Amino acid sequence: MYIKKKYRLILALADKEFTIPNSFQKFINENKKLHNLIIKSKGGNCYCTCCGNKFIAKTKVDCKIKCPNCKQKLLVKTNRLKEYTFKDNLQLLDKVNNTLILRTFELRTYYDGNILKSNVTEFMRTIIEDEETHDYTTNQLINKMGNMYVSHNTTFTHWRARSKWAYRDVYGIVCPSNLKRLFKNTEFKYSQLDKYVLRAGYIDFVECLRLARYHSFEMLIKMKLYNLASDADKFTKGSNFQEIFGVSKTFLPFMVKNNINFEQLKVLRLLKKEDINLINKLIGYSDLEKLSKYVNLEVAYYKVLSKNKYYTRDYLDYLDMCRLLQYDLKDKKILYPENLMKEHDKLVKLIKLVENEQNDKLIKIRLEKLNKTIYQNNKYIIYPAPSVASMQQEANSQKNCLLTYCKRYALGESDIYFLRSLENIDKSLVTVEIQNSKVVQARSKFNEPINKEQEKFLNTWTKKVLERVSLENA
Ligand SMILES: [Zn+2]
Repeated sequence: MYIKKKYRLILALADKEFTIPNSFQKFINENKKLHNLIIKSKGGNCYCTCCGNKFIAKTKVDCKIKCPNCKQKLLVKTNRLKEYTFKDNLQLLDKVNNTLILRTFELRTYYDGNILKSNVTEFMRTIIEDEETHDYTTNQLINKMGNMYVSHNTTFTHWRARSKWAYRDVYGIVCPSNLKRLFKNTEFKYSQLDKYVLRAGYIDFVECLRLARYHSFEMLIKMKLYNLASDADKFTKGSNFQEIFGVSKTFLPFMVKNNINFEQLKVLRLLKKEDINLINKLIGYSDLEKLSKYVNLEVAYYKVLSKNKYYTRDYLDYLDMCRLLQYDLKDKKILYPENLMKEHDKLVKLIKLVENEQNDKLIKIRLEKLNKTIYQNNKYIIYPAPSVASMQQEANSQKNCLLTYCKRYALGESDIYFLRSLENIDKSLVTVEIQNSKVVQARSKFNEPINKEQEKFLNTWTKKVLERVSLENA
């Protein structure tokens, strides 16, 4: 892909001027130490590839243990291991002509069952402008069936722009030692980014720069709330601790001690308790804020929520129904039911019953007027639905969704009629919905259309009765 002249010049200048500073070489060596294994053979005999120390330990394969000699915490592998590869992206911020460039190296260590061999290859440079970044990769970055890998045996020949489909996805461990010097006369002067980078491990450095532009970033680092600095853009409002963090300042030592992250803070705001285990358990539950208005989250967790992660919505439903039914919401037995789903389903039925009862009362009042519209000829009769129960029956035998109309019917938003044959008056035949003296729906079983004769009957009825009744009322 074509590289704009401006960036081509910057890349060329960087090629001429960039070196590997001693501080970065040290940084590489530190990371290289982590690319070692504890090789375990029979009887728990362990060998540290980092320092050559031999010792005996009972640790399992694929766990990490500390070598008692060099104190490195390393991965344990069996001595039958044929090969193993470590890969890490190490990043160094650099500068040419006042332009910041993030250099990305791959540190790759290959273990062939005998010795370890490491290579470092710089494969990407990211030119950082105010709001924009441009990634350029070397010819050593190879695309094999959609998988990108760095070929350490290939010699560098040229830079190329990263193709469009490759979005910014290169995370790395950034070398902290030169950041302070580089940021000297820049907007990041006070950002404390070096302190953040030192503790952060793998990061998207470009994203960090975006966050470091917020004043809150510096504030959070100074407070030693490093994880919260990763969400610095969420702490831009408020003038005191309570307003900024949503919790009282007395929680600060706890927040620092646990280096809490934003998800943990959100739970702490509701829980208001210094219990990091409980906080971690509550992360991921939905509707915690709404629940906290009804219940004590700690009790709710141990008595209800811990039993099933996906109960929160039902729990909230249950509590809403309790309120609707005016249950005593101070009663612990009601707030924290032993068997939530059983109680939940009970209340659903109860509410339905109460609703039906209310609807029935309203329908009865409406019938006083609607009964005046009952009409029949020698074959058919039409009359208003007399009750919720009758609508339930009609819905069952007609296989339609009439039940959802109960409330509307009760409130007078539409009128429901049953058209039946005089020969078999108990049997459902046609269900009719009326609005403003007009038929809006007339359906046979399974929502089939009605026949000509029934249609004619309905026409006569609307003209002779419905329109007249409504005129009288008007
Ligand atoms: Zn060692």
